[in-house]
Amino acid sequence: MKCSLKAPAKINLSLDVIAKRPDGYHEVEMIMTEVDLADRLDFVTRDDGKIVVEMSEGFIPHDARNLAHQAAQLLKSKFQTREGVHIYIQKNIPVAAGLAGGSSDAATVLRALNEIWGLSLSKGELAELGANLGSDVAFCVHGGTAKATGRGEKIEKLPALPSCWVILAKPPIGVSTGDIYRQISVPNRSYSPASEMEDAIYGNDYARICNHLHNDLETVTLALYPEVRRIKKRMIESGVDAALMSGSGPTVFGLVKHENQVNRVYNALRGFCEHVYAVRLLTETC
Ligand code: ATP
Repeated sequence: MKCSLKAPAKINLSLDVIAKRPDGYHEVEMIMTEVDLADRLDFVTRDDGKIVVEMSEGFIPHDARNLAHQAAQLLKSKFQTREGVHIYIQKNIPVAAGLAGGSSDAATVLRALNEIWGLSLSKGELAELGANLGSDVAFCVHGGTAKATGRGEKIEKLPALPSCWVILAKPPIGVSTGDIYRQISVPNRSYSPASEMEDAIYGNDYARICNHLHNDLETVTLALYPEVRRIKKRMIESGVDAALMSGSGPTVFGLVKHENQVNRVYNALRGFCEHVYAVRLLTETC
């Protein structure tokens, strides 16, 4: 049996760090949405029971360190499936970029093997299993636009955003999410940026969404990597409606409502940084 699925990247519209937990992780409130920049995963079942992952990018480990491999192994061990699977990943999402590429691959493996191996698990059950692999996997299983709380594993679906373009710009550096969280001091505030974003989304209010973009990790990453600060500045100067760093960075995204702004912003960033993409929001996962 064969099938192909897309694994889309995500951006954080809001990322609030709420508290440090005794287990070392942070309690967060995140509002995330998917964009139309995706890895492509091809699945072919294997009679020999093996799990084999092949990647278009040679520098990413394809053994048990790969999140896609771990997702397949998790389902195989838990449900004792006799069949194996060959997974080929065409990597289009930049790695260690704050776009949840690895988590999205893992979530896509869970969704695909649920069908291929006839496991009949609900999205909620898959998300719960996926949360053991990484904090963004639960969101990626659900897709669309959602609020994630806890460590990122508790998901509440939100309405789709008003349509717009997203310009993504990533400098030639990778950022370790763990390093950034280790350096953050938990903000002390009396309001919730994520709740303000949630209200703006429920109100389908593009201008309010732009005004309430927020990421607590941004200050830490910007202080460590001046090139990320420069990209954000350049993006704002090029005329985006709003700009923010995604996740722990280093990718910065800009929101643009009108198609005639897209070229100007895209051209202002190309040549200035390694990877630039102009994409649409994804309203629903395939
Ligand atoms: P997040 O936004 O969830 O923090 P990220 O976009 O910053 O994630 P990833 O692209 O998921 O980061 O990569 C983080 C690390 O995970 C890399 O060091 C990479 O080697 C490893 N990794 C394991 N499996 C994968 C995969 N399938 N795709 C990309 N990276 C993977």
